[in-house]
Amino acid sequence: MENENANEQKPSQATPKAKKVSFELISSTEGQGPSMYAELRRLITENHDDLTQARIALAFNLSWKPDVDGRLQLGMMKVASDLDRELADYDLIIVLNRAFWGDPKVTDEQRTALLDHELSHGALQRAKNLEPIEDEKGRKCYRIRKHDIEEFSAVASRHGMWKKDIEAFWKALQKGRQRTLFDQGEGEEPIAAADGENLVARDEKGELIHMRAALSPKASSE
Ligand SMILES: [Zn+2]
Repeated sequence: MENENANEQKPSQATPKAKKVSFELISSTEGQGPSMYAELRRLITENHDDLTQARIALAFNLSWKPDVDGRLQLGMMKVASDLDRELADYDLIIVLNRAFWGDPKVTDEQRTALLDHELSHGALQRAKNLEPIEDEKGRKCYRIRKHDIEEFSAVASRHGMWKKDIEAFWKALQKGRQRTLFDQGEGEEPIAAADGENLVARDEKGELIHMRAALSPKASSE
């Protein structure tokens, strides 16, 4: 017990380091906020009928880091809980990676694509008769819609369009092809190409890995 005081931690004189804050609400009236909310509104009007009445907040995440596989989260859509809705007048929150959003190498078209992606996660909850479900306070209820496709590029590279959802995604890619958001290196062959009615996917060496003739027009609607 003699050394009791020696083991006592001396209170540090320095001010304790402030805890980092991971989120920042984007104001709809200040800075880049107004243009972001305007773009959000435009995308909803053009493509997201379910969300025309949704009150959507935009926020930045300041702390997302790449995971062990090097994948960096760029955005997230969250449905406000009943308690959230008691606290603030929002139905949905879109969280954006601030470092990505502010990166000078990122184009406005990529930012728009990210917003469009996150909006695609938002959907109305519907009853069996497809009518939107409302809560007791008359507010529409929302849910998170999952991605159309979940696949590893390595599996796609080895097996091509082995599932209907991949095929549908491939068709959508073809449709949006002229609007590729990433520069393709000079002399680089596209990893896959459309050849008339046939869809041809090639691996990195340019070898044919999958070919499908005359796709059924119903293929993507099943
Ligand atoms: Zn997503």
